[in-house]
Amino acid sequence: MRAARESKNGYVPLPAAFVERVGREVPGLVEALDGTEPPVSVRFNPAKPYTMPADDTDGQVAWAEVGETAYLARRPVFTTDPAFHGGAYYVQEAGSMFVGWLLRRCRDAGLLEADGKGLRVLDLCAAPGGKTTHLASIVAPWGGIVIANEVIRPRAKTLAENVQKWGTDHVAVVSNDPAEFGEQLPDFFDLVVIDAPCSGEGMFRKDFGARAEWSPENVLLCAARQRRIVSDAWATLRPGGILIYSTCTFNTVENEENVRWVAERLGGEVLTFDHLPEGIVPGKNADGPAFGWHFYPHRVRSEGFFAAAIRKTAAFSSLAASSASKTTNSGKKRGATNSGLNPLSANELREVRRWVSTEALPAAGLEHFVTGGDGSVYGFSTALHEAVTTLLSGRFALLYSGVQLGELIRGSLKPAHALALYPGLNRQAIPVTELSETEALEYLRKGSSTTLLPPDRLAEGLNLVTFQQIPLGWVKRIGRRYNNLYPPAWRILHY
Ligand code: SAM
Repeated sequence: MRAARESKNGYVPLPAAFVERVGREVPGLVEALDGTEPPVSVRFNPAKPYTMPADDTDGQVAWAEVGETAYLARRPVFTTDPAFHGGAYYVQEAGSMFVGWLLRRCRDAGLLEADGKGLRVLDLCAAPGGKTTHLASIVAPWGGIVIANEVIRPRAKTLAENVQKWGTDHVAVVSNDPAEFGEQLPDFFDLVVIDAPCSGEGMFRKDFGARAEWSPENVLLCAARQRRIVSDAWATLRPGGILIYSTCTFNTVENEENVRWVAERLGGEVLTFDHLPEGIVPGKNADGPAFGWHFYPHRVRSEGFFAAAIRKTAAFSSLAASSASKTTNSGKKRGATNSGLNPLSANELREVRRWVSTEALPAAGLEHFVTGGDGSVYGFSTALHEAVTTLLSGRFALLYSGVQLGELIRGSLKPAHALALYPGLNRQAIPVTELSETEALEYLRKGSSTTLLPPDRLAEGLNLVTFQQIPLGWVKRIGRRYNNLYPPAWRILHY
């Protein structure tokens, strides 16, 4: 196996300083990184029922709910699977799914009581959206919301695309520096997830580029940046709220030492849980209970990962106090009316409501309908509407939120692509055409009238097209011709 990996294109040996350290600290790990193949895992969308062919799968992730995930028997070309584009599943590292395990355990232990207003979650370093979509699926039945932030704008756009494909109605995507949250939204969130940028040692098995970029100096730079990110955002977590801190690296500097630093300097209690799935290794803590948990590829079916949960005990953190106190003014802006969201008339509301249904949803679905600054109509749950109003009254760059329903043109809704992907779409409102796999791929490639399917398969006017009942988007037929309305920026280029 090792020789096979070494003969792969672009093979980069493991960095010598890394081998020396890890060989000493974690016996067996170095051998696994160069001697075994990485597993491929997916997480299914509970809002979009879909069954993957049994031959394609090879067991489930032990720290996920039954039926929530699958390991794949081989790595497919995901681009050629229409169900992937329709948001039926997300390709995610198995270890990363442990964030969902922690969220569920925190809630089971009564640590995340939502006091009737719905749990508010911030996913601070969110692109491309693996944890965002997971958190969104978990908190949906609880009436919770997720604010997904990504500071790097092009990556935030990818995040917004993935959120739309997942079909959520309780997620907002913003692109801001972490400090904006600490400054503008003190005590706002019940749960903050910081999946921090890191030195990426956990990716060494599958990503030779991560090996090439690694250096001991970079580990220290990453650790300092992680502390900065956590302390900048700390004030946005309410006292008693929970921080889930994670990295995809093995070293203790970016993991246990940072967890200790957060607990001691910012004011938190590191949480521990019993009955961990087999193979997960508790993080080091010379003074007592584990500081988080490690996923080592020779112990579990996953790439490297680390996560810890810390409950905020300080009412106010020493480091964040100065920035938080500056924000009392912007804090006052909460509930401000100048939000850029305008109400609809009764007729407009009637038209918009015709397009949505709660039948397939785990929660109340859309309760507020407004026109946004871009002229589109958006729908929100009550909890998300409140949060988005607050975000818009501050300095937040809101990229996407709730469900973009479409534009009202002379009293009729011209539906947006996101509405096609939303499980709360009322399928009675529109003709539906099921596509074969070949047709679906041609649709996603943005094939035209001549290449896609005979026009008489479609009703006159707007049609929803589906693959295995999973909506992919809209097609508009006008006589013998039709327009493929798949978003040009999302089209698949080759398959
Ligand atoms: N949580 C994501 C997921 O599950 O798909 C992966 C996040 S990745 C490990 C870390 C993210 O942090 C990247 O998207 C990166 O752009 C972002 N990032 C980089 N520097 C940052 C900084 N200084 N502050 C906040 N986020 C940063």
